[in-house]
Amino acid sequence: MAARKTAKPQVKQCPTCKGTGEVSRPVRVGRKRRYAGEQSGICLGCLGSGEIPADD
Ligand SMILES: [Zn+2]
Repeated sequence: MAARKTAKPQVKQCPTCKGTGEVSRPVRVGRKRRYAGEQSGICLGCLGSGEIPADD
């Protein structure tokens, strides 16, 4: 396989977290699922990298 010099980025910004790698999600507690605020967590779309593989 020949190495190509045209270093085109193979990733693009994750649309879910907008490149931050983190998303805020609502936290619900109790059996009634009372809304308790928001918590930032790792983005499952990019697993925290903020980038996802480009499709093309
Ligand atoms: Zn993401």
